[in-house]
Amino acid sequence: MKTWKTMAGFVVATAALSACGGVMISGLPLPGDTAWVPAEAPVAATSGVPAAPPRTGADEPDPAGDRAPADDGPGHGDGDRPARPGEPGEQREPAPGEPSPDVVVGSTEHQAGKHIALTFDDGPDPTWTPRVLDLLDQYDVQATFCVVGENAREHPDLVRRIAGAGHALCDHTMHHDEKLPARPAADRKAEIKDCRDAIIDAAPDADVRYFRAPAGAFSRPGDPDPDSVQRIAARLGMQPLAWSIDTEDWTKPGVAAIVDSVQQAGDHDVVLLHDAGGDRQQTMTALEKVLPWLVDQGYEFDLPA
Ligand SMILES: [Zn+2]
Repeated sequence: MKTWKTMAGFVVATAALSACGGVMISGLPLPGDTAWVPAEAPVAATSGVPAAPPRTGADEPDPAGDRAPADDGPGHGDGDRPARPGEPGEQREPAPGEPSPDVVVGSTEHQAGKHIALTFDDGPDPTWTPRVLDLLDQYDVQATFCVVGENAREHPDLVRRIAGAGHALCDHTMHHDEKLPARPAADRKAEIKDCRDAIIDAAPDADVRYFRAPAGAFSRPGDPDPDSVQRIAARLGMQPLAWSIDTEDWTKPGVAAIVDSVQQAGDHDVVLLHDAGGDRQQTMTALEKVLPWLVDQGYEFDLPA
């Protein structure tokens, strides 16, 4: 795992640098005028270490041509000047128990030993989510499902099934908005809150403990905007979530490539997979091969933290 210290003083740790259809993150710090367009990519923070998501790339089944950097929206200044109380940019302390907006979790380093966290994005999907759930159940795997709000509204039964099986839920925005940091604050709030509401309406007892920005498009580290993507999520009780291994399964790279990605895992990786967004047969077949391998290797399945 590599780490960089940014100008803003954030420590960014990345374990793997890849992203679907996107640019590889090359490290930080970012120039002050650089748009923060991270990818659903790797960045990881070890427990208690402030970190930021990687910039670049995306994990989603979207045309790569749609990867123009988002504009720096309001509140995306350089962040160097401390905000004065009451003005935009004032940073309040997180409430007790509230996740830190300055940490984008992408590892399982809170646990000693070999732990791996599997995360499934973009569902629920009536064809693939039940198959993934059946397979996870077969290996007694607890995973994290990053659901899209409109899909949750369409398939509340599947949200209930995910929650009922003991998996963690993750808010992945209402409409899979990949340019959240560039949106007006009201739109950012709505995308994030509406998805969480959709999950809770479907499964009131769901453990919606994470938020993952589509395409990893979090606000950039140290963004003083009180309505930065991470701060909105944290205020709603959700920990910003990244990943450290991108299988790029949405690109259909072949079963062997997906298996190989997972087999690169170290002791504390968070793996990005998809249970929706198209034909996920490759993902399913890869899981059928790699889950017994992970068990044989002594991995325990975990949640990111
Ligand atoms: Zn996604």
